[in-house]
Parts: sequence; C-alpha cells; structure tokens
Amino acid sequence: MKWSKYFIPTLKEVPTGTEAISHQLLLRSGLVHMLTSGVYSYLPLGWRVLRKIQDIIREEINAAGAHELLMPAQHPMELWQKTGRDKTLEDVMIRFKNKKGAAMCLGPTHEEIITDLVKSFVQSYRQLPVTLYQIQTKFRDETRPRFGVVRACEFIMKDAYSFDIDDAGLKKNYDAMYKAYKNIFDRCGLKPIIAEADTGAMGGKISHEFLVPAAIGEDKATDENGVEHQAIEVGHIFQLGTKYTEALGALYLDETGKLQPIIMGCYGIGVSRLIATIIEVHHDEKGIKWPIGVAPFQVEILPLQVADPQTMELAQRLYDELTKQGIDVLMDDRDDSAGRKFNDADLIGIPFRVTIGKRGLQEGKVEIKDRATGVVESVPLEGALERVLFLVKK
Ligand code: ATP
Ligand code: MG
Repeated sequence: MKWSKYFIPTLKEVPTGTEAISHQLLLRSGLVHMLTSGVYSYLPLGWRVLRKIQDIIREEINAAGAHELLMPAQHPMELWQKTGRDKTLEDVMIRFKNKKGAAMCLGPTHEEIITDLVKSFVQSYRQLPVTLYQIQTKFRDETRPRFGVVRACEFIMKDAYSFDIDDAGLKKNYDAMYKAYKNIFDRCGLKPIIAEADTGAMGGKISHEFLVPAAIGEDKATDENGVEHQAIEVGHIFQLGTKYTEALGALYLDETGKLQPIIMGCYGIGVSRLIATIIEVHHDEKGIKWPIGVAPFQVEILPLQVADPQTMELAQRLYDELTKQGIDVLMDDRDDSAGRKFNDADLIGIPFRVTIGKRGLQEGKVEIKDRATGVVESVPLEGALERVLFLVKK
C-alpha cells in the first residue's frame, strides 16, 4: 500500500475530551472515527487491525471445534420475554417497534437467539455436541460509554455457544475454549489474568474472566503474586447449564428415549475492545507499538527523498520483493518532511521501518528500526531484504 493513495488521517494534536491513551492514539493514528458518543467507524487502518484480530480468533476457535455462522442483529422481544432477560437487560437494550407493530430489539448478546435456532434443528443426542460462533455487532445502550471503543454502544463481539448432552461434555468444550482464549490473547500480545467470576445476569455456575492489567481498567484483578491491578475485561466464558435451554424448550431425546434439556456454555470476546486494550499495553509517548501478529502492516518503507529516482527505485524494489513474500508493506511515498514522516511512523506503530535516504545510499546502506525496542541497525543494501524477512518472521 502506498500512503499517498491510502486513507490514514493522522492528527498532530490530542483530541479534546479523551481520557484514555488508547482512545487518543486510536483517533490520532487515523484508526477510528467517532460518529456520536459510543458509536465508532473503523477507518481502513483500524479495520485492517480488526481483521487481523478476527483472523486469529477464527483460527483458534475453529481449532477448538466450533463452526462459524452469522445471526441477525434485530430480534423479536417475544424471545427475550421467555427467559425474562427483557427485564434484566432492559437498561441496555435498544428497543423499537417495526412497521407491523411488533416489539423488537437490537441484540445486546445472542443466547436466546442461538438456543432457539438449535432447538429448531436438534432433536436427538446423536446431533450433539455442537459449538457454534459468530463475529458480529452488538448493541448496548451503555449508561456511560467510555474510553472510546473500550465501552461502546455498538461493538464487535465474538460469541460462541456450546451444546452438550451432559456436564462432562460441557466441561470438555469449556476447557477447549479456555485454551483457545489463552492462545488468542497471547497472539494479540496480551497476558490476561484469568479469574473465576460472578455469573450475574448471564446465569450458570462456573465462569472465568480474562482481565488485562491496564491503567484505565474498570475491573480489578489479582495476579499470581497477589498484586491487585486495574484491568480491562477482554473475554468471559460461562458454564451456563440449562437456564436458557429449559426456558426456551431446547430439549433432546437421550439414548433411553427420555427428553432432556441441552446443556449449554457461552464464550465471549470483546473484539473491538481488544484493539484499544492492545494499544493500552503497547505504546510509548510517541505512539503505538503494534505486536507483529495484529499490526495493520508488518513493514513500513520510508523513502526520504521522493524526488530522487535512485531512492524511489530501491524503495519500490524492496516493496515488490517483500509483497511477493506475503509481507504486508506500507510505503510512505508522501512528498513531506522527514520529521513529519518519522513522527507519523512512530505514531501508527508499524513494527519494522526501513528508511531509505540519499546519504545512506552513497554508503550502500539502509536503516531498519524496530518500533518496539527502538533498536536501529544500518544494513548493507544487498542484505536488506533478507534481514527484514528474518525480523518479521522471527
Ligand atoms: P462489562 O462488564 O465490561 O460491561 P459484560 O460482562 O457485560 O462486560 P459480556 O456480556 O460478558 O460483557 O460480553 C463479552 C465481552 O464483550 C466482554 O468480555 C467485553 O470484552 C466485551 N464488551 C462488553 N460490553 C462491551 C461494550 N460496551 N463495548 C465494547 N466491548 C464490550
Ligand atoms: Mg462479563
């Protein structure tokens, strides 16, 4: 991607009314745009990060044996009345009447919807277990939308639901998800504290929260050394049991021909909350330091003199070769000052920056900077491609 033809509206100033550093950096790096309080657009660079996070989630959740589907965002209230959650979630539900006068809401979560769906297809123990998931937009009229996309009124969640014939099956699915969650957060550069938690309005007996220590955290978590941290909840998994399946009549015939309620688990990750959490953990005073697995681009090529044919020829060649190797490359081909380009590079935080300048070229060298460590190396032209490939794949 060439910066001059792309859409990265970076901001020099810290936007007013922003408390969280991640919120400031999301806006300043041109990753998101606020439409109204708690409602955000993801700009091309931010969407690339979200797509990378989603790819990681898909890989790990698929490996845990779940199947992806997509459920609707608008729901008939009737279904929510059956579990009583029209009342317990009343405060956050966005409700409306459609043209026919039917009471509807925008889904704040999907336990009722998936249980109704499974009920209409599953009759026998032979069809179980099954785990289904989606990556989808949720709507919650939060009392206090805060910290940008950390607490939003419209946000992207990965929600998975397991259906089993017995507790042993549920436990197995729950453990598989627990492990998948650890892998996902690890690949996102996060080390959450995992804590047994309250099941609250969701119901069920056992649940675990995945809590990432961060200054703006609204939850509390105690690490293995007994130190208490402010923390952001990035994921929550529940052994629900039969609360939803009994209320909605999702039953199966067991081996003896007896009707039994299906045993359920649910597993959520705040996908869009993750982008902010990663920034809270990985930044410095100059900007973001993306972990390589979720970076919008892995390498930024920064030619200093865009009017110099030799500089641009080399930049283009490196760009083509890296792209051919499957690396996501951004080239800052803007005709702008070195200072501006360096500042923007530090701000948007691409893990590796290759600077190509006239002076270096005279000595046959380019410069590679590791954004996370700040280490700068001067590399001979002929070894540059190899070196960048090594660093990216390390
Ligand atoms: P919280 O306690 O932060 O309000 P929750 O317990 O209501 O969250 P769940 O219903 O468990 O959230 O949703 C699953 C995940 O979705 C949460 O772990 C969190 O990461 C994310 N999430 C929940 N609410 C929001 C929101 N308003 N904005 C962004 N992400 C959210
Ligand atoms: Mg929760």
